[in-house]
Amino acid sequence: MYTFDLINAMPDVKFYLYFLSNRSNFIAIFVIHLFYPMSNFSRTTVTAALIYANGPIHIGHLAGCYLPADIYVRFLRLKKKDVIFVSGTDEHGVPITIKAQKEGKTPQEVVDHYYHVIKSSFADFGISFDIYGRTSDPVHHQMSQDFFLKLYESGKFVEEITQQFYDEEAGQFLADRYIVGDCPSCKQPGAYGDQCEKCGTTLSPNELLNPKSTLSGSSPVLKPTKNWFLPLDQWQPALEKYIAGHPEWKSNVSGQVKSWLQEGLRPRAMTRDLNWGVPIPLPDTEGKVLYVWFDAPIGYISMTSQLRPDWEKYWKSEDSRIVHFIGKDNIVFHTLIFPAMCMAHGDFQLADQVPANEFMNLEGDKISTSRNWAVWLHEYLQDFPGKQDVLRYSLTALSPESKDADFTWTDFQTKNNSELVAILGNFVNRAFVLIDKNFESKVPPKGELTTFEKDLMEAVNEIPAKLENALEHYKFRDALVLAMEVARLGNKYLAETEPWKLMKVDPLKAGSVLNFAVQLVAHVSIALEPFLPFTSLKLRNALGLKDCDWSMIGNFNCISEGQPLMNPGLLFEKMEDVTIQTQIDKLNKTKVEMELATKSVPAQKDIVSYDDFAKLDLRLGTIIAAEKMEKSKKLLKLTVNDGFRSRTILSGIAEFFDPENIIGKQVTFLANLAPRKMMGLESEGMILMAEGQDGKLDFLMPGVKMWDGASIS
Ligand SMILES: [Zn+2]
Repeated sequence: MYTFDLINAMPDVKFYLYFLSNRSNFIAIFVIHLFYPMSNFSRTTVTAALIYANGPIHIGHLAGCYLPADIYVRFLRLKKKDVIFVSGTDEHGVPITIKAQKEGKTPQEVVDHYYHVIKSSFADFGISFDIYGRTSDPVHHQMSQDFFLKLYESGKFVEEITQQFYDEEAGQFLADRYIVGDCPSCKQPGAYGDQCEKCGTTLSPNELLNPKSTLSGSSPVLKPTKNWFLPLDQWQPALEKYIAGHPEWKSNVSGQVKSWLQEGLRPRAMTRDLNWGVPIPLPDTEGKVLYVWFDAPIGYISMTSQLRPDWEKYWKSEDSRIVHFIGKDNIVFHTLIFPAMCMAHGDFQLADQVPANEFMNLEGDKISTSRNWAVWLHEYLQDFPGKQDVLRYSLTALSPESKDADFTWTDFQTKNNSELVAILGNFVNRAFVLIDKNFESKVPPKGELTTFEKDLMEAVNEIPAKLENALEHYKFRDALVLAMEVARLGNKYLAETEPWKLMKVDPLKAGSVLNFAVQLVAHVSIALEPFLPFTSLKLRNALGLKDCDWSMIGNFNCISEGQPLMNPGLLFEKMEDVTIQTQIDKLNKTKVEMELATKSVPAQKDIVSYDDFAKLDLRLGTIIAAEKMEKSKKLLKLTVNDGFRSRTILSGIAEFFDPENIIGKQVTFLANLAPRKMMGLESEGMILMAEGQDGKLDFLMPGVKMWDGASIS
C-alpha cells in the first residue's frame, strides 16, 4: 500500500520509504516528506512542558526543556517571526494531593505557593514565556470540560466498569501514585500505579505485583467503578500515519514512539476516581475528575486563549506550526495520547515537532527531589547572584539532546573561566577599555579594510546560516558553539592586531581596528541573545543599540562613528576553586545526610546460649606496632601486647587509620580465635571494631587505661 502525502509543491523535498512493523504485517508507506523551510508557516506556537506545582525547580528542569524552548523562541523573535511561547503549572494529579498530605495543607494551598515559586524562578533565568498560566484557572477547567463533552457527545469514549483498587481504611479509590508495588517489568519494588521510575515502563495499577496503598499502607481490594476510556487502539492507524509523516523527529523521540506502536496501543482511561482535578461535566460523577494527562495538554490551549483574543489561529490554522518542548518522560503523552485526543476532537492541529530532551544528571548521579540531589535555581541565584547566563551557558553546552548528560561543578567552572571570561569577556572588555582610554568613550572612525578584516567579515557572515540550520534542527549545543565563534573571532582579531601597541605608532589605525571590534561586539550581542539574554542586553545598552534584529548580522556599519559608548564593566568573573569546592561540599554533605537518614540499625542476630558466649576469650591489649601490608589496601599488620607476649593480628582497618596514629592505643580483641593465614602471615586473634552510621570503623576501648591481658566478660 502506498500513501502519497504530497502537501504542496515546496522546495527542499526529501523522500523516505517507511516501514511500519505491526506484528506480522509489514506496511510500507511511501512518504514524500517536505522539510518546511520555516517561512512556509505563518506562525509558530511553542509550548514547554507543564510542570507539577509541587516543588521548586532545578537545573534538570531548565536543561530538559525550558532553556532549549527559550533559545528557540528568542531566535524566532529575532527573526521577527510570529511566535508565542506558552507554559504554566500543572496543578492537578496525584503528585499534588500527595504533597499536600505530606505537608498537612490543602492541594490548593500547595499549588498557590509553588505556582509563584516556579514562575519567579523562570523569570529570574530569563525564560521568556508570553504567558505562564495554571491549570487550576476557571478558563482552563471550562475548556477541558468542553473538550471532554465534545468527545463524549460524539461517541469517542468507551464507558467501562472496571475493577479498581480501593483502600478500605481510607475509604478511597487509589489512582496512579496512590498505589505502589513491584514492577511487573523490572521486578523492582516502589513502582507507581502509572509508571515505574526505575525502568520507565508505563503501567496501570492492576499490573503491579504486591500492590499497597500509599495512604494507609494496607493491601487494597478491587471494587467496580465506571470510567471513560479513549480507545487508543482504534486511533493507532491514524497515529502511525501521523508519525510516519515526521521522519525528521529526533531519534530518541521516534524510537520511543515506535516501540509504543509496535507493542500495540490499548484503551486508556481519561477519568479518575479522585477528588482533586477538573470535575467530569456529566451527571452522577461525584468523586471523579478528568485524568491529569487529559486536561494538562489542553492547558497549552487554554493558556493561549488567555494570552490574546485571536488565539484560535495558533491552534487551529493549518499554517500554524506547533512545537512541544518536553523531557523524555512526557514523550508518549505528546506524540500519541494528546494527538489522538486532538484527532478525536477535530478542531486542533497536531504538533509538527516534539523535540524532547533526555535527562541531565548531576555529578554522576540522577537528579532527585526526594534525595535533595539537585542544584535548585533559587539557591543558585543566592550563591551566584547575577550569574544566570553562566548557568544558561553551561547547561546549553551540555544539553542532553540525544542522551543523558552530566552537570559537574568543575565543568561549570571551566566553561566560565576558559570560555566566558577568557574569550567573550576578554574580547569585549579590551575593546571598551581601549576606547574609553584613547577615544573618550566614542566609537572611533574606521579606515580602509585590510585583507584580514575582509576575511574575518566573510567568516562572520558564514555563521548565521549555519546557526539558523542548527537551531531549526534543535541542535542547541552546536548552535551555541557557532554563536560563540563570533566572540572567538573577535578575541582573535584583537590578539592579532594589538591595538594597544598600535596606539603608540598609528593611533588612526588603532581607532579603525577598534571600530571594527565594536561592530563585532554588536554581532556578538545579537548572535548570543537567545543563549545569554542578560549579557546581550548589557552589550546592547553599552553600544546604544536599540533594536535587536537577526538581519543586522553582516552589517559592519551598525554602530556609527562617534557613537558614545557605556562600558558595561566585566561581563564575567573568574571563578575560584574555593567557590566551586563549596558547592561540591554542599552536595556531598547532602549525600551523607540522606544516607544517614535512610540507614537503619542492623537487625539482631539469632539468640546464643551463655555457654556459647563464655567460649569467647575477649581481652584488652595495647597496639605496640602497626604497619601497612604490602599489596593490600585493607589490611594493617598490628603487634599487640596481650600481657604475656606480643602477638600479630591482621586487621582490615587500613582505610580508616594511619598506622602511626594507632600505636599505643589499648583495644579489645578476641584472643582465642583460630589462627588464620592471610597474605602469607598468620593472624592470631581479631581486634573488635564498632561500625558507625557512616560505615567508618572505630576501636572499642576501656574508659581508662587498664592492664594488658585484662579479660572481658
Ligand atoms: Zn520497572
